[in-house]
Amino acid sequence: MTGKIAEALLLDAALESIPYGFCVWSPQFRLVMWNKHYRELYGFSEDAIYKGMSLEDVVHLSHKLGNHPGQSAEIFYENYTSELLSNRAGARSRAQEQVYGGRVVETAHVYTDILGWVVTHEDVTDEIARSESVQKRGLELERQNLRLDAAVNNISIGLCMMDAKGRLVICNEPYARIYHLPADYIRPGTQLEDILGHLFDVGMSAGGTREEYIAWRREVIARGEYGKNIHELKGRVILMQHHPMKDGGWVSTHEDITEQRQNEARIRHLARHDALTDLPNRIEFLEQMALAEAALQRGEMAAVLYIDLDHFKAVNDMLGHAVGDEVIKQAAVRLWGATRETDLLARLGGDEFALLLRPLDNADTAARIADRIIKAMSSPMTIGGQRVEIGASVGIALGPGDGVTTDTLVKNADLALYKAKSEGRSTYHFFEAGMDADLQRRRAIEAGLRLALAQDELRLVFQPMLGLKENRITCVEALLRWDHGDTTISPVEFIPVAEETGLIGAIGQWVLREACRAAATWPSHVRVAVNLSPIQFRQRDLVAQIRAVLVEARFDPTRLELEITENLLLNDNEATLRALHDLRAMGVRISMDDFGTGYSSLSYLRSFPFDKIKIDRSFMRDLTSRADSQAIIKAVIGLGQSLGMSTTAEGVETEAQLAMVREHGCSEVQGYLFSPPLPAAALAGLLHSEAVKAQVANMKAS
Ligand code: C2E
Ligand code: CA
Ligand code: CA
Repeated sequence: MTGKIAEALLLDAALESIPYGFCVWSPQFRLVMWNKHYRELYGFSEDAIYKGMSLEDVVHLSHKLGNHPGQSAEIFYENYTSELLSNRAGARSRAQEQVYGGRVVETAHVYTDILGWVVTHEDVTDEIARSESVQKRGLELERQNLRLDAAVNNISIGLCMMDAKGRLVICNEPYARIYHLPADYIRPGTQLEDILGHLFDVGMSAGGTREEYIAWRREVIARGEYGKNIHELKGRVILMQHHPMKDGGWVSTHEDITEQRQNEARIRHLARHDALTDLPNRIEFLEQMALAEAALQRGEMAAVLYIDLDHFKAVNDMLGHAVGDEVIKQAAVRLWGATRETDLLARLGGDEFALLLRPLDNADTAARIADRIIKAMSSPMTIGGQRVEIGASVGIALGPGDGVTTDTLVKNADLALYKAKSEGRSTYHFFEAGMDADLQRRRAIEAGLRLALAQDELRLVFQPMLGLKENRITCVEALLRWDHGDTTISPVEFIPVAEETGLIGAIGQWVLREACRAAATWPSHVRVAVNLSPIQFRQRDLVAQIRAVLVEARFDPTRLELEITENLLLNDNEATLRALHDLRAMGVRISMDDFGTGYSSLSYLRSFPFDKIKIDRSFMRDLTSRADSQAIIKAVIGLGQSLGMSTTAEGVETEAQLAMVREHGCSEVQGYLFSPPLPAAALAGLLHSEAVKAQVANMKAS
């Protein structure tokens, strides 16, 4: 755009600097351009003439101003137009006009199909007065010819006019310059084929072979058609347009479009690439995907990987956008390094990347590349002297199995990514049917859970633990329930959502308060157990919060048990351990929940002096059938005894299981055999009847 404006300004400047009048009439006889000298010669004021003004109006105006006296405007117009039409064939023509003040203006015309008539005007009054000699006039005409050439040469594009026999009539200087044509080839009369032959000899390429191009030109000429071609010569790109004329000749225009081309290529590149990483962007990725669709439909395999950086948001928030940008750049380089030559890696935006794997022989290859990506991203980056830990999660959709359209594959890869992230990040996950429904349900849960507390939809149920030595209820676990609409949603489903959204903080506090409030009404030897999520330990004031709840409920801290899972201790976090020690110092008991489900439960037993180990209910399931489960339970109970920790068997459902854990010396059992989780009132009733039974037993004994 600015290029065009600059060109127009240059042209204006060039026109104004020409020392004679100059104007151009369009093939429709409209004024296209003119210079100041032209106006002055005819006495036109600056705003009297305008672009697009008809020749007829200009002639009338001119007549009114005293030009061409002795001739009516109509007659002058008629003569002038017929003269113009007669030199449409390409010949030059000259004429003298009487203008106002008794002066004489000499005009010269040349016609081109694209521009129309280029006319030069020169005041020759003085020269005529000085010499009437014919010889001198001849010289003047020669000069006039040169001036006409100058006018034509002022047009920045190359012009070349050929007659019906294919002989050069006139060409301008830019034409010779664009093609580096030696003087021999720009003389009038030179054959087109000679010029073309020379150009091909010096290395011009025009798409096809020399013969094909010449044949094509001949055909266009023979048919009297418009034609265009882009050719290249010495690194320049030239747009040639062929405009036929009525007499069988033609005018060709030649434009050097190298810069324009480069700009276009640059703009095209920018529109399809990400500025930060220079990787293809979403638009380019989706288009390339669309191109792969046909192959997928034929049954060819391909994979779409969605890649999301882990912890990127935190890095960006904490270390600033400059560091964030650098992370993205380095990540792009690493990711790219993990791909194959034929793969397409794109940045979709933010910290999201996509990878199209094609061709693909099997799913294992996709898994291997995903693994390579995760490994590549797992080593820390150094940015501005700072160590930054980033990881990547990957979702994989395989075509044609998981879909053959761009939309489905992209959506499914995204779902798989979501799954990978929810599985603790730095992993990859393949798409599986049903993920879509899962995600929708999860979204519904997320939306509903925000209102659950305020709308009183949460409640606690209580499941007792039976002390085997005491033979009575020693502890009761508070378990959360969410009544949403007509259904009750399991904590297994909504606790992870609460953890991810941060709602677990408020919910956890509510559970603790409710549990203590209920337990305050129970016999004093019965403790209450409350589950704590690892996320709650991220709150710095967790210990203070718990202390405040205990004080408020006037609840004895030694009657409170907090159940934590071993993944809390996964990241050997000092603050977490300190919080646990502080709680224990207050008298609160700490239990390790779901023991045996993690990778190295035994080692965690050593990291903190737990009061209780709850053996996960999965061991109970195969206790009577599998010898190794028995061996593990036996070992854990023995270990607990030697470390001074009590042991609770979870999920005891049968008499056989009960007998077995009792035999191994387990301290407590919990499970459906004894009691399912109960509403607060029912649990209170159970405790009451137990107390009555005990009383009766005492009475019998005494
Ligand atoms: P958990 O702490 O292991 O809780 C025990 C789960 O086992 C409970 O499921 C309980 O209903 C179930 N259960 C009890 N006895 C038996 C049995 O004999 N057989 C079988 N098959 N299952 C039995 P629930 O109530 O659905 O809770 C599931 C999990 O949700 C809990 O596992 C706990 O991790 C979490 N959760 C529950 N309430 C809370 C809470 O208030 N806060 C936190 N952070 N997590 C909670
Ligand atoms: Ca528990
Ligand atoms: Ca458990």
